[in-house]
Amino acid sequence: MMPLEVLEDAQENLVNYKGCGSSVMEMSHRSKTYEAIIQDAEATLRRIMNISDEYYVLFLQGGASLQFSMIPMNLVGRGDTTAYAVTGQFSKKAYNEAKRWCNAVAITDGKATNYAEIPEITPDMVPADAKYVHICGNNTIFGTTYNTLPDVGDKMLICDLSSTILGKEFDVNRFGLVYAGAQKNMGIAGLTVVIIRKDLVREDIDPIVPSMLRYDLMAKNGSMYNTPPAFAIYMAGLMFSWVEKMGGVKELEKINRKKSSLLYDYLDASSMFTPVAAKKDRSLMNVTFRLPDEDLTAAFIKMCTGRGMINVKGHRSVGGCRASIYNAMPVEGVEKLVQCMTDFEKGIRE
Ligand code: PMP
Repeated sequence: MMPLEVLEDAQENLVNYKGCGSSVMEMSHRSKTYEAIIQDAEATLRRIMNISDEYYVLFLQGGASLQFSMIPMNLVGRGDTTAYAVTGQFSKKAYNEAKRWCNAVAITDGKATNYAEIPEITPDMVPADAKYVHICGNNTIFGTTYNTLPDVGDKMLICDLSSTILGKEFDVNRFGLVYAGAQKNMGIAGLTVVIIRKDLVREDIDPIVPSMLRYDLMAKNGSMYNTPPAFAIYMAGLMFSWVEKMGGVKELEKINRKKSSLLYDYLDASSMFTPVAAKKDRSLMNVTFRLPDEDLTAAFIKMCTGRGMINVKGHRSVGGCRASIYNAMPVEGVEKLVQCMTDFEKGIRE
């Protein structure tokens, strides 16, 4: 969900943006008005994430999924070795895409625990010639996260932050590149944010790489090598300002910890609901849990829906339940869910 005030702001300015006579959906991305929108969005994101001038912030398209390809194509040559920690579906996809381009090695795979746990990484697991180590910061489907960053020695870390960006404090300086689709904590689909250390943006990459997939061209053109996802960038800018108004990522993290603890504490004490993710790896954003059987799961989801709580069903590939409690979900929303679980456990059926 998105904050109501952000949606209302967008609604108020939908037809006539700040009195300029046109909608953001209609204006030229080269206009002065739009220039201010994209520049403000970038400046606000830099403030709320403490991103230094050593990094480019790029506003791209193609979803986080396109980064699975762009990263190896821009950062390494065809025969080079790269390392991937496979901790869920998206890191597996990232690994599979990288294999098309380079010698990608899966240094770990959480399959043995059905991805309920993030396997430990030690520096000796990383091939000596690996150009980087790719991790997924938060596994959206399984509800696991890195609560401490892995020790990869002197290797450069790259992180998919799609489902955790702005949800908890994060030190970008420890990474060569981080990226995230906007549709969780940064607004709407259609935009992918890439934060890349400037020295990694090279012009001498394999000429086979299409122009649209080159970071150097996107950086040189201020994310406007072609028409950017203009409305999605505008919405992201509103979300960044909202984060700032809420007191920044630090304050949101506190709220997110409170929200997720309400659920995990209930799950740990319950005899009806079982948490899925290993305690040490629990996500603040996606809380996954199970009921004893399919019938009870369906009955619980129906009861949630009846009380106005939608999307409690787990991802289609794993079943069970998942509460995705991104930044805009208020504490009261989580309290309502816990109440529903309590009532269900008492035998109430609606
Ligand atoms: N990585 C993670 C962690 C995700 O959660 C998702 C989408 N849910 C993706 C990558 C893929 O993102 P997109 O659909 O924007 O390509």
